Amino acid sequence: MSSLIELKEVSRLYGFGDATTVALDEVDLTINKGEFIAVMGPSGSGKSTLMNIIGLLDRPTYGNYKLAGQNVSKLRPGRAAKIRRDRIGFIFQSYNLLPKLSILENVAMPLLYKGMGQTRRLKQSASILETVGLFDRQYFMPRQLSNGQQQRAAIARALVNNPSLIIADEPTGNLDSAASLLVMELLSEIHRDGNTVLMVTHNPELTRYASRVVYMRDGSIVYDEETPIGKVPAMAKRIMYFMPKKTEEDELAGVSALLKTIPGGKSADPAYPAYRQAGRSGRPVGKKARKPQKAAAKRTTKKRTEKVAKR
Ligand code: ADP
Repeated sequence: MSSLIELKEVSRLYGFGDATTVALDEVDLTINKGEFIAVMGPSGSGKSTLMNIIGLLDRPTYGNYKLAGQNVSKLRPGRAAKIRRDRIGFIFQSYNLLPKLSILENVAMPLLYKGMGQTRRLKQSASILETVGLFDRQYFMPRQLSNGQQQRAAIARALVNNPSLIIADEPTGNLDSAASLLVMELLSEIHRDGNTVLMVTHNPELTRYASRVVYMRDGSIVYDEETPIGKVPAMAKRIMYFMPKKTEEDELAGVSALLKTIPGGKSADPAYPAYRQAGRSGRPVGKKARKPQKAAAKRTTKKRTEKVAKR
């Protein structure tokens, strides 16, 4: 399989001097064409930063990023925008549809930027809307659609360009379970058609749609697990059952607590050896273990940053 995305020692730093935050810490990640990757990790672990860099909305401070064989680490903004338009489709938690345009016009937007004529643009958009089950809603305004329908329209907009990569950031975060199921089935279908999907989620249940799950903590990938589609992988299952969860915050706390048990995080969890056996297909990424001094220095920097922020 050929690789679509290759990140080599990619770091993203925010701020300067004492107030530096290391949002991504020398991340290595290769994604092959046709993979469906779920990215999990507690809040602040670097998921959005990683998505922004892969989606060419941001550039690494250090390191190399190759997209479809092309080095895109240091592109000028105009060039990055063009590649983004041609190759990447974004789906956000909050749909981001333009309220004053019809669903059809919203979906056709990326083609307008591309300079396609109106007739072709609308025809192509109507055909994509049919794929997502919204053909009969094409002349509606976004506010006339349910949340689930709006998200399906946003998916149509992400697909209309025929991108090589779909980036979905918590695509079901605002949806009830029935609408979530529809959206996930749609993403699954897109994946089955041979597309590459990269999805951030806090919901371990959704990892069953993925072919691989990547877990992040403190700006690093700490675990990387291939998984048969249809199954929640071992590590995500543990996140689900690690502690009782009632609110989203509890859920995040669960993810946080569990990720602390991953190699490199020096497990205090007595169940840890059992998980290691169960997660045989997974790959702990023990970078922190190799670089204890750097990790300690980073923690000090973070503490300092927090202190400064509190003042
Ligand atoms: P996640 O998506 O997992 O919640 P983020 O990628 O948003 O994590 O953030 C990773 C780290 O980088 C956090 O410590 C966050 O505070 C910091 N960060 C993100 N964006 C900025 C920014 N624009 N300026 C300063 N720090 C940032």
